[in-house]
Formats: sequence, C-alpha cells, structure tokens
Amino acid sequence: MSDQPTSADPQRDAPQEILIHEGREAILGSGMEIRRMLPVIKRRMVGPWCFLDHFGPASFTEPQEGMWVGPHPHIGLQTVTWMIDGEVLHRDSIGSEQLIKEGQLNLMTSGRGISHTEESPTANSGRLHGVQFWVALPDEHRHVDPSFEHHPVLPILDRGGLNITLFAGEALGERSPATVYSKMMGAQLLAAGADIFEVSLDERFEHGLVLLEGEASVAGQPLRVGQMAYLAPGHKRLRLKTQGPARLTLVGGLPFQEHILLWWNFVGRTAAEIAQAREAWIQQDPLFGRVDGFDGPPLLAPEWVPGIK
Ligand code: MN
Repeated sequence: MSDQPTSADPQRDAPQEILIHEGREAILGSGMEIRRMLPVIKRRMVGPWCFLDHFGPASFTEPQEGMWVGPHPHIGLQTVTWMIDGEVLHRDSIGSEQLIKEGQLNLMTSGRGISHTEESPTANSGRLHGVQFWVALPDEHRHVDPSFEHHPVLPILDRGGLNITLFAGEALGERSPATVYSKMMGAQLLAAGADIFEVSLDERFEHGLVLLEGEASVAGQPLRVGQMAYLAPGHKRLRLKTQGPARLTLVGGLPFQEHILLWWNFVGRTAAEIAQAREAWIQQDPLFGRVDGFDGPPLLAPEWVPGIK
C-alpha cells in the first residue's frame, strides 16, 4: 500500500463539487434555435467567458434559413466562433471577409467598437453546427483597436484517445495562436466511442464543460446537450466518460475579477457606457463603421431599460 493517491483513486477529486447548469433555448436572427449556456441565472461567467451559444445541428435549403445575422455592433469583447459542420461567412467594419468551415476558428476582437455580419454563404452544404462564445476583455485591453483573425490550423492533442483541439488560450502545455488577453483556455474534446478519459486541468482556473453531441458524464454526473458542467478552481483533472461518440467543449480561465455589464451585444462596466454605445449604433457613429456586402438591414438596438446595473 502506498499513501500516494493514484490517478485511479475515485476519492481524490470527490470533495470538489461539480455543478450542472441548465442552458436555455433562444432564437437567433433568422429563427434558428440555439442553446445558451452562459449567461444563466446561476452563473454569469466562467473565467473571461461571458456568453456561450451552441447553434445547430441544423439543415436548411435556402441560405436565409441558415445563419442570417445582419449588421450589429460589439464593444468590450471577443467573439470566438468554432465550426463543427457547415460554413459561415463573416464580414466586418474593418474590411474582413472570411468563410469559416469545420475545424476552423474565427476570432473577432471588438475592442472599443466594431460591427459585423454572419451568414450562410450562397454555396453551402445545407448544414450548420457550431458554437459562438464571447470573451470579456479585461479593463486594460477593452479599448484596443478592433481586429479579426482566422485560424484554420490549431494545436491538436491526443490524451488517451480523446482528440483535443485547443482553439483559445493555454492548456496541456500547448498554446492556441489566437490572440487573447486573459489567462484562459478553450478547446473541443472529441471521443470516437465509449471510453473513460482523464484530462489535466489548470487548477487555478474555473472550467465549464458543454456537451455538443452524444452522451457523456463528468465525474459520474450525466451531462446532456444543453447543459454545462461547472468546475470551480481547484480541480486538477476532468474525469469524462462517454457512452459512444461524443463532442464537447471545455472553456476555462482565472475567475474574472472585474464586474461587467452584458447588455445586447455590448460588454461594459457602467450603464452610462452601455447607453452611449447603444446611442452610437442608432446614430451610425463612425465608432462602429460599416459592413459592406451584406444584403439586408442592420439590427435594431433593443429598447433601453433604465436601471441596468
Ligand atoms: Mn456578433
């Protein structure tokens, strides 16, 4: 007998609770149903990640039945788009025009202000499946110039048969080429079949695990599509069991120390700042520029509700 716990010791991580959060269904642009895992009532952020949308899998016949999101503004965040199946065409106010396909990443940094569109291209597979996550920019970087990156090549690791694509930040000794401004990570986990996996975690990070396809459980707790398992800082490893082929995303980061306000497409710090961004969009302020090439009207800002804090 050894006093050293082994990796097979089921008690070793037991004191660390894992919370299962229910996502909610929402409707995006053209009427496509999505599942939103952040923010939810009981959890607003995981590290700097403040918004987690899972769209599809969907099939469609006309491009406008796929993704069809007209010009809209962002401040204070990065959008992280990871495609699982199908294609999306991105355009923005700094002149980017980029098709994204399966296994690729689009990263848009709004900084102080940008506007963009996302649509299913005319030539398409008729399929759509992916995620779009938002990362809050820390105060010292949230007024940077807007920028856009496309990453068709990302670090891919294998951990005991689990295929891991690191699309953001640092994990497992690897670093994604995508530009980020916080200590964080984001990855896709892909299992070919029923199996048991252990993935080392940065124990300083809190983590969110989202099931995208298949059946899986984390530390013995079943996880369904549309739910997120939350792991507080202190977890050294993720214990994942799959009942068959399964796809998940894992996001994490140092707990975000700043209070943020998330309203519509804006991440700010004060209601006045958000109201000002809303007004800038309505007034077509140069802050948000113009998106060329999209055949449709801009999105209207929602009514302002006083008392947002
Ligand atoms: Mn957007």
